[in-house]
Amino acid sequence: MQNLISKLAASTLDLLFPLECFGCRTEGDVLCSSCLAGVARLNQPYCRLCAQPGRSSPCVSCQESPLDVDAIRAPFLFDGAIQEAVHALKYRNLRAAAPRLGELVGEFLTAGRIPGGVLVPVPMPSSRARQRGYNQSELLAMEVSKTTGIPMDNGLLARVRNTPPQVGTAGRAERRRNVEGSFEAKTGPRAKTDLRGAAVIVVDDVATTGSTISACASALKSAGAASVWGLVLAREA
Ligand SMILES: [Zn+2]
Ligand SMILES: [Zn+2]
Repeated sequence: MQNLISKLAASTLDLLFPLECFGCRTEGDVLCSSCLAGVARLNQPYCRLCAQPGRSSPCVSCQESPLDVDAIRAPFLFDGAIQEAVHALKYRNLRAAAPRLGELVGEFLTAGRIPGGVLVPVPMPSSRARQRGYNQSELLAMEVSKTTGIPMDNGLLARVRNTPPQVGTAGRAERRRNVEGSFEAKTGPRAKTDLRGAAVIVVDDVATTGSTISACASALKSAGAASVWGLVLAREA
């Protein structure tokens, strides 16, 4: 029933705003097949920890300021049509972009070797969630869950401290200080997922230095998670 309602809601949205390709503006899908084929993928070589494109692994940032997350992976680079899509999802209220994007992340997860028993979206500051009406990371995680069959738990992490947006904050060390201690894992008898020994995948739209995902990982590991990987749609180069 829930599924039917969300399908109806999605198709109503499509009627109101026909989807168009973020690459070439052709109507039909958020990424047509030829634009999808041309999108910049995150190919080797990249840092095996934070997925920073480049020859050194671990990269300089990971040597100087190691992350608390086991590793981050992404199918795409934050560029071109993918960058447009993320902006639409984030700033233009285009939640209809989420299903296809999340499906692409899900297919990437199925093909890759990323250990995970539960998907956890990065929680948004409540003020921004209220403004926008949805959390884009949660929309993506929902679709990844549908594609892969891995359950999603959006109640496992809470934002306990609101941080200023990271836009304009430069290096990893600064970003880490900015976001440190912002998240708390929710455990206890009422929790849907038992974190002890769990393999968690934290889902977000974009990773810039990995600091936000790292702060999530640190909270999840303090609560007993055995491993935490980050999975994002796009990695900033
Ligand atoms: Zn196109
Ligand atoms: Zn790195």
